[in-house]
Amino acid sequence: MIYLDNAATTKTAPEVVEAMLPYFTECYGNPSAIYSLGSAGKKAISEARRTIAGAIGAKQEEIYFTAGGTEADNWALKAVAESCSARGRHIITTKIEHHAVLHTCRYLEKNGYQVTYLDVDEYGLVDLDVLRAAIRPDTILISVMFANNEIGTVEPVREIGKLSRERGILFHTDAVQAFGQIPIDVEEMNIDLLSASAHKLNGPKGAGMLYVRSGVKIRSFIHGGAQERSRRAGTENVPGIVGFAAAVRRALRIMEEKTAKEKALRDYLIGQIETQIPYCRLNGHREKRLPGNVNVSFQFIEGESLLIMLDMKGICASSGSACTSGSLDPSHVLLAIGLRHEEAHGSLRMTLSEENTKEEMDIVVEQLKQIVNRLRDMSPLYEDFLKSQKG
Ligand code: PLP
Repeated sequence: MIYLDNAATTKTAPEVVEAMLPYFTECYGNPSAIYSLGSAGKKAISEARRTIAGAIGAKQEEIYFTAGGTEADNWALKAVAESCSARGRHIITTKIEHHAVLHTCRYLEKNGYQVTYLDVDEYGLVDLDVLRAAIRPDTILISVMFANNEIGTVEPVREIGKLSRERGILFHTDAVQAFGQIPIDVEEMNIDLLSASAHKLNGPKGAGMLYVRSGVKIRSFIHGGAQERSRRAGTENVPGIVGFAAAVRRALRIMEEKTAKEKALRDYLIGQIETQIPYCRLNGHREKRLPGNVNVSFQFIEGESLLIMLDMKGICASSGSACTSGSLDPSHVLLAIGLRHEEAHGSLRMTLSEENTKEEMDIVVEQLKQIVNRLRDMSPLYEDFLKSQKG
């Protein structure tokens, strides 16, 4: 099997599993308990908080553990909207955010908030002048993702943070795809709220965090006990939190080497596809992109068929369409960067890890070449295109 869907999720690293195990088998006490079986969990949570805070230049008390990126995004947007509503009800985000942000914005619109969804350029980049022009006196929040999950484009977060700070507007970034891949410093980048998720960096599923700059007032997200300083009640996911911290330690340790390896493989794969398969285009920015992201549209074919045929060859990848929702709508991200519906439908996302090899990339290109040819041979659109070329 060749696994090329690391933006969807990653394999839990052995050292992460090892770090988690004792919190299932031995230190299973409730962290709120007084006895030492419980306090072992409590101590582990506070160590994890320190590790994760340190990874982004934050303070421990600014980290709130959640059940993943979706929850962190929901919390950030809803909490800021509620706590700042007296000052204004306008939020700025982009058309290419993850649904965790977009659908939360839709919910807020139904509840009396106004949201501006910024256009992005052909590479998926936010234009600072467009952002500046969208700011209103009642703007309370700017939410722009750190890096896009489909096309890998890395946004100008530092510049957006600076602008937000100058204008006195809170800045949230969904860093689910960037955390552990790209160095992040919330102080230097003027980030007020940041979402992250463990399973994208070889940690466990169901664990994530929201960073909230101290001084930013946010309401409780889940009401109940006093966990997470009463803001997110419920017995803590101790193994998940410990695994998250172990994954962060690992990610920081290998970041430089992993980035170099993935970039080299990514650019090799892109180059091979571009030279060996006609009528394709790279989606996203060539340089300002996540180290392991490749997103390509193949004209005249259906992404879903491509995925199924790749799967039959043992290759796991993802399409550009909203397949997770069972809908056949093309990806909102690909439409936002200007692709036509049929181009968006013929898209393929391959997201690499440091475990992939050049030999695997060669196999993938060879298989892709054969499958794309076969699908094009069956495509009436391709036939029409060939005729028009001749005629
Ligand atoms: N935001 C982005 C950019 C993502 O890529 C994802 C996951 O695909 C999420 C949010 C949701 O994270 P989680 O799966 O931890 O809920």
